[in-house]
Amino acid sequence: RIAAVDGDAASGVHAFLHVDAEGALAQAAESDARRAAGEARHLLDGVPIAVKDVLATQGLPTTCGSKILEGWVPPYDATVVGKIKAAGLPILGKTNMDEFAMGSSTEHSAYGPTRNPWDQTRIPGGSGGGSAAAVAAFEAPLALGTDTGGSIRQPGAVTGTVGVKPTYGGVSRYGLVALANSLDQVGPVTRTVLDSALLHELIGGHDPLDSTSVDTPVGGFVEAARKGAAGDLSGLRVGVIKELAGDGWQPGVMQRFAETVDLLKELGAEVTEVSCPTFVHAMATYYLILPAECSSNLAKFDAMRYGLRVVPEGDPSAEAVMKATRDAGFGDEVKRRIMIGTYALSSGYYDAYYGQAQKVRTLISRDFAAAFEDVDVLVSPTSPTTAFPLGDKLDDPLAMYLQDLATIPANLAGVPGISVPAGLADEDGLPVGFQVLAPALADDRLYRVGAAVE
Ligand code: GLN
Repeated sequence: RIAAVDGDAASGVHAFLHVDAEGALAQAAESDARRAAGEARHLLDGVPIAVKDVLATQGLPTTCGSKILEGWVPPYDATVVGKIKAAGLPILGKTNMDEFAMGSSTEHSAYGPTRNPWDQTRIPGGSGGGSAAAVAAFEAPLALGTDTGGSIRQPGAVTGTVGVKPTYGGVSRYGLVALANSLDQVGPVTRTVLDSALLHELIGGHDPLDSTSVDTPVGGFVEAARKGAAGDLSGLRVGVIKELAGDGWQPGVMQRFAETVDLLKELGAEVTEVSCPTFVHAMATYYLILPAECSSNLAKFDAMRYGLRVVPEGDPSAEAVMKATRDAGFGDEVKRRIMIGTYALSSGYYDAYYGQAQKVRTLISRDFAAAFEDVDVLVSPTSPTTAFPLGDKLDDPLAMYLQDLATIPANLAGVPGISVPAGLADEDGLPVGFQVLAPALADDRLYRVGAAVE
């Protein structure tokens, strides 16, 4: 299937940056042997998976969609990669993404865009467009993504797939090349809610190698998905977030969203409108905190330790090499965020920008806490629009950032979220996503509600 539809940077879906057919077939043969021997196997043993190229995979290239890491092969596995290997899931390859996970369209990949399988003139969302497109195009039944501001959920919405951002700390970040450490989470990208529950149970859990990993038992997701699929939501209190709708939201998106809310009522849920007034500041807050963290994280790409190394003619000094390498190796969006972050963190501006953003972040968490006193889950459309045409927002960073209006609050507060397909918009026939958010460590609720409406 990959050979038939994936193509390359110039045409086709282009979900993969690297395909490891040999490795995947060897793993599949091992799974077959285990089955033939009647050994106890994980439920997902032998089910192939695609991995976003921001996760370290021993022996397989890991580029983060950047030229600066071209040719780098990690000497170790991310914890989540180790877990899927141990359970016997063949790794099909590494999926395309916006450079260092910055973007909402996968057009910021240094290796060319991924195309949406529903309409190849359109974006597959981002930053994890490769993982979502691979699943949507039936190139992989499962994929791993990462979500810092929406990069699992928004691609899920615009490709008609399921995407989950677990509770912060619920899944190990060890071996995930950090975009913003305080926001990043690894999560499942699948075709059904039950598949996500299975994968989440496999990759979740405490990891001593990640200092922010939460030490509480993971589980109950599969059971919650099965309960939800049975279609009984009686007693569930659902809050519709008032601030995440209105001008600029595509009518077809709002229509499918309203119908899904009606379905929740039919299934017995109590639906109310909930106001989270600080959510309107979430985007501004995120675009200070994220650049601050990523400008610091990306300092390690210094031409000495990893990947690319450019030595300018006549000046081989460390400073000149560093400058030339970073200039050639980083794309425009990465450079933009390094500049914003460095500025926001500089002495004299720190309190006005970064410090202030951290305070607003606390207020956003308090809005969540207040809302979750009255309701069990919050809902909104995942993204304000369906998939837009390639190139449409490439020259307008703010328009691109607005794609994540509804997904960013969860990352700032560390709460879990899921996007499930909610049908196709009338005006363009493209997939719409329905977002469910739950309190920290109540990820099971995402699966119950998600499976009930999918
Ligand atoms: N689109 C958002 C950004 O550009 C989210 C990225 C992400 O979740 N990795 O930062």
